[in-house]
Amino acid sequence: MKNKLRFISLIIVFVMLINVLLICFGQNKVHAQSISTDINSIDTSRYPGIQDRIYQLKAKYPNWNFKILYTGLNWNDVIANEYTGHGSSPKNLVQKSDNYQGEWICPICGDRHYDNGSWRCASESAIKYMMDSRTALNVSDIFQFLELSYDFSYIYFKRRLKFFIAKYNVIVPIFSSS
Ligand SMILES: [Zn+2]
Repeated sequence: MKNKLRFISLIIVFVMLINVLLICFGQNKVHAQSISTDINSIDTSRYPGIQDRIYQLKAKYPNWNFKILYTGLNWNDVIANEYTGHGSSPKNLVQKSDNYQGEWICPICGDRHYDNGSWRCASESAIKYMMDSRTALNVSDIFQFLELSYDFSYIYFKRRLKFFIAKYNVIVPIFSSS
């Protein structure tokens, strides 16, 4: 059951990340987007709670490489863009269950059914929770940020699982607050 919930959560986050990437790359607007491997230089007043969580993960898994994706996107704009489509085609859905009710459900759409009937429109606070990188900066959820571009030739050459694990690259997207 726990794995199923995690799987559903991962699907929700995956859809959200796809939307963010489409916003980043699908428009002709120029965004000040950049990727940095310099964890020490994260502005902790602008992005609170990111650096210390990465340090904790690095302490446990020193071989993992963390990259920060500065999306250049404004947090409020992103949330507003995700919280749309009420009544017709919401961008974000949650599968109604004992674990996903109450605050998870959009108050505008309420119990309105979407897709196969078991899905409800996600609330704004649910979207904020799932899109906040800090939510996933822990040992069990960090894998949703795994970079999917392994050096397979290197892995094949080594033929050892530990090298596969050692080469985790994690990309953490963060948003501007102003
Ligand atoms: Zn709604």
